Amino acid sequence: MNIIKNKTGWVEVICGSMYSGKTEELIRRIRRADYAKQKIQVFKPAIDNRYDETNIVSHNKVQFESIPVNNVQEIRNQVNDDTEVVAIDEVQFFSDEIVNLCNDLADSGKRVIVAGLDQDYTGKPFGPMPSLLCIAEYITKNLAICVKCGNPANRTQRLIHNDKKILVGTSDMYEARCRNCHTKES
Ligand code: ADP
Ligand code: ZN
Repeated sequence: MNIIKNKTGWVEVICGSMYSGKTEELIRRIRRADYAKQKIQVFKPAIDNRYDETNIVSHNKVQFESIPVNNVQEIRNQVNDDTEVVAIDEVQFFSDEIVNLCNDLADSGKRVIVAGLDQDYTGKPFGPMPSLLCIAEYITKNLAICVKCGNPANRTQRLIHNDKKILVGTSDMYEARCRNCHTKES
């Protein structure tokens, strides 16, 4: 009986509100793989240039080199055959095609780690996140701390008036709020 399985890939999703530590956690996992000398490629959407054009950067300034891309196809074209770990930050900004890509990469034996906002500023599921959570082998949901009352914060409050679903911004535009303190209006 063969009790040693073939090497397999899988999908890990890190989700939560803004400031919940998704990027920090993504970088922690990437760094550990890096220490183990695994071949890693990190991608982020080019529209997220808040702190840096190329690096992924957490709100407390932890960073790691990444490749900015405009769409899912650009990730597909750039993943090398010998890459062992593929990490994608701000994954909520990509189209639903990201779900097929994550499945394909995991099927080909790669560890896929993605981090993204599970809810938009109105509390609705964000882009491809529901499907990514369905196909993932491992899910981590982080909470921030509500800046109003100190309870666990599951939501992101938009602080300026703007109805666009995608509006990239930092602490002047968004804050972490619990369900009691969050309001849908921006
Ligand atoms: P995310 O990727 O989920 O937006 P980051 O990993 O970029 O989060 O940043 C997490 C860091 O943000 C925390 O370690 C902390 O230093 C900082 N931070 C700022 N505001 C808050 C908050 N309200 N609750 C928790 N952490 C916060
Ligand atoms: Zn609150």
